[in-house]
Amino acid sequence: MNNVTGLTCRECGQEYPIAPLHVCETCFGPLEVMYDYEYIRRHLTRQVIASRPPSLWRYRELLPVSEEPRVGLHSGFTPLVKADRLAAYLGVKELYVKDDSVNHPTFSYKDRVVSVAISKALEFGFDTVSCASTGNLANAVSAHAARAGLRCFIFIPSDLEQGKIIGSAIYGPRTLGIRGNYDDVNRLCSEIADKYGWAFVNINIRPYYTEGAKTYGFEIAEQLGWRLPQHVIVPTAGGTILPKIAKAFEELKKLGLVESSLTPKIYTAQAAGCAPVVQALHKGSDLIAPVKPHTIAKSIAIGNPADGYYVLRAVRDSGGWGEAVTDEEIIAGIQLLAQTEGIFTEPAGGTTVAVTKKLIEQGRIARGESIVICITGNGYKTIEAVAEKVEQPFIINARLQDFDALYNTLTPTVPLRVGETELH
Ligand SMILES: *Cc1c(COP(=O)(O)O)cnc(C)c1O
Ligand SMILES: [Zn+2]
Repeated sequence: MNNVTGLTCRECGQEYPIAPLHVCETCFGPLEVMYDYEYIRRHLTRQVIASRPPSLWRYRELLPVSEEPRVGLHSGFTPLVKADRLAAYLGVKELYVKDDSVNHPTFSYKDRVVSVAISKALEFGFDTVSCASTGNLANAVSAHAARAGLRCFIFIPSDLEQGKIIGSAIYGPRTLGIRGNYDDVNRLCSEIADKYGWAFVNINIRPYYTEGAKTYGFEIAEQLGWRLPQHVIVPTAGGTILPKIAKAFEELKKLGLVESSLTPKIYTAQAAGCAPVVQALHKGSDLIAPVKPHTIAKSIAIGNPADGYYVLRAVRDSGGWGEAVTDEEIIAGIQLLAQTEGIFTEPAGGTTVAVTKKLIEQGRIARGESIVICITGNGYKTIEAVAEKVEQPFIINARLQDFDALYNTLTPTVPLRVGETELH
């Protein structure tokens, strides 16, 4: 395929060949994949896309692989759920949840970026893949590496949730739990990548990895019937997915796959205990001051986000905004999504739901316009976050009279009401 023309520096524009490179030798700017959009326009139509299997590879001309993809054949194409009960609760008209909590095979948006990264690592001939991770990336790298038959080393902060740790270990990688936070892990991994020459999906093959995140945006548009929504709320950790959703929308416009009149407003969602991007946004600054994370939203606890600047730029260019919410609001957000839509997300998703609620209450998101909430991870991996917040089972013997006795003591339960009579 001749869809890709090379790499280019996002800051100075210097061009590089397709290789495992990620920073510009001249200015240290990040490198990005360049495409031949004329070639893509001729080969990628709505009909071609519709004829392909429901995976992220249906947009393969817009991804930086040249051979047949070998991993992630069932990743992506997750549901876009019309969230009418949550919409009624929030008092808005048209609301959707893009639900990567059920991405195949490791239940987060990271299956997208890793599918592309490991397919590319195989093309480059690497025999070992690795990553610095807050949990979900480690899960995805471990699973996709197992499937590809690659050696795998993962590096995580030592204090992650059990679900995230076991959810990697089961696939048989070597796991290194580093005493420190993600930013410490990442610094160490940069040194290891240089010294050992492994494919670190989010370091030395980062330009390819990040492109996989665009598929989240392509799917939103396709699943809306090739329309763009007016508002999209996205969680931010290292800052990969948000600018790539913006890029996805731009590419679809450029290729004429969607109407070009609308620019979706994009909003960044962070936890108050780790909100360096939102703080810079609120200050009107381009400089992101690193913070020391302290939040239950561990998968988005990155205090020094590699692509934070590009998040700011994408948010501002779109006319969007951003907010941060407390751990308490995050838990309420998890419960709200579960009890209105039957979707159990992790704290990153609770953050996005809570920020959406806040932005609607602030009047930043108009109640009559179309809104997509980005749910990026699964709550079954982080049960610690809500274990004490839910009702525990009543333990009884297997006797009808025991149930009768208990039942008469219970306060009536009703489903969470939405609309006119709101229960909070
Ligand atoms: C990694 C991750 C994100 C966002 O990360 P970026 O680095 O900003 O792309 C969001 N939610 C979950 C659950 C994640 O694992
Ligand atoms: Zn440069």
